Amino acid sequence: MPMKYQIYSSHNYRQIPQIEKLSKEDLQSIDVVGTVLPFKTNNYVINELINWDNYRDDPMFILNFPQKGMLKPEDFETIKQLFNRQADKTELKDAANKIRHQLNPHPAGQSHNVPILNGEKLMGAQHKYPETMLFFPTQGQTCHAYCTFCFRWPQFIGMDDIRFAMNQVDSVIAYIKEHPEITDLLITGGDPMVMKASILDAYITRVLDANIPHLQSIRIGSKSLSFWPYRYTTDVDADDIIRTFEKVSKAGKNLAFMAHFNHPRELSTPAVEQAISRIRSTGAQIRTQSPLLNHINAIAKTWSDMWTRQVKLGLIPYYMFVARDTGAQEYFGVSLLKAWDIYRRAYNKVSGIARTVRGPSMSCTPGKVRICGVTEVMGEKVFVLEFIQGRNPDWVARPFFARYSADAQWMDDLQPAFGKKEFFFEPELAEMLLD
Ligand SMILES: *Cc1c(COP(=O)(O)O)cnc(C)c1O
Ligand code: SF4
Repeated sequence: MPMKYQIYSSHNYRQIPQIEKLSKEDLQSIDVVGTVLPFKTNNYVINELINWDNYRDDPMFILNFPQKGMLKPEDFETIKQLFNRQADKTELKDAANKIRHQLNPHPAGQSHNVPILNGEKLMGAQHKYPETMLFFPTQGQTCHAYCTFCFRWPQFIGMDDIRFAMNQVDSVIAYIKEHPEITDLLITGGDPMVMKASILDAYITRVLDANIPHLQSIRIGSKSLSFWPYRYTTDVDADDIIRTFEKVSKAGKNLAFMAHFNHPRELSTPAVEQAISRIRSTGAQIRTQSPLLNHINAIAKTWSDMWTRQVKLGLIPYYMFVARDTGAQEYFGVSLLKAWDIYRRAYNKVSGIARTVRGPSMSCTPGKVRICGVTEVMGEKVFVLEFIQGRNPDWVARPFFARYSADAQWMDDLQPAFGKKEFFFEPELAEMLLD
């Protein structure tokens, strides 16, 4: 029997049976914050993942349900007042929009990574690092539930005109053919696994039929194993998904499934175990990644448990990210110092097999910057950093130094060490951004 997919959002969440456990104040917080930031959950998360007896501190509840602390107190108050005097919809919307614009909706200079094909911009794609092309299929621009920390939040509230609104797989294929350095095509979203099997199959078959010798891997980035594992087991087209995945291996390409897991509990249900086992049976490899999030997983043991459990299930730990500088970063953000400390204490507890993970890493304008650690050089306390990915590949794997700061949370908060005026890559980056 297929599991029925039931969605809840601001409009109907009070119908969730467990919601009667919430205090009046917590219900109001959901209404207020849910006016500004996206909110969506579903019956799997509600029934299988959340611990309702301790919902206030429950990482899975905090992962899906809007939290009071996600807005600045004065912004929270503004929206609350409007609710209390039953302001009309336009007034609420205007106030919400004003707050949204202050939440850095477009971090990390994404607009500079748009690929050009025959002089025209390819809007449904990004090409920032030479080997990997990102493709955002139109039908995959939502998710089975929304993470409260999501950095793509503007697209879920209609703030971004989703200019990815064309069926551009043929242009993506033509672009890859012209770029022999591209070995990986990453299909991403939102979540591409919200697409019907037939649509996903059409995209993948087109790519395989194009028979591009330098294309080695098709990657799929998805949170579906956490939010809707039935996608691979009981959904009406679950078997079709599995067959599409098999096609990739049969065509001699690697299918790399990039799974987003934020907490070990997401790996604990029979449904997710079954889904993982079905995906792995197709020959696909599953790698995992997650940001480090205050209130959700900012504890070393949570990470060591998560990586250990992943290895047991045959998954490959891949990235630990620093929460991005957008949306409710003040609520979810962790200092770089604390991020490194958590990483170190989790990493040194797990088997070498789990030490495939790299982090903590910031996805910022120049590239993915890893915090290697804190040390002292010639009497100055410094952060040691390195690029895992760089806009210029030559920047990668060269240690560089930033002045120590106990509360820096992002690259922008860091200054070069040793009295230098700029980081080594900055002049070149400035030139790149002029284009
Ligand atoms: C992380 C990322 C990739 C993939 O990088 P890998 O290190 O190969 O996983 C590609 N494009 C962008 C924009 C990214 O942020
Ligand atoms: S699954 Fe990814 S894109 Fe979707 S809401 Fe969560 S973080 Fe955002």
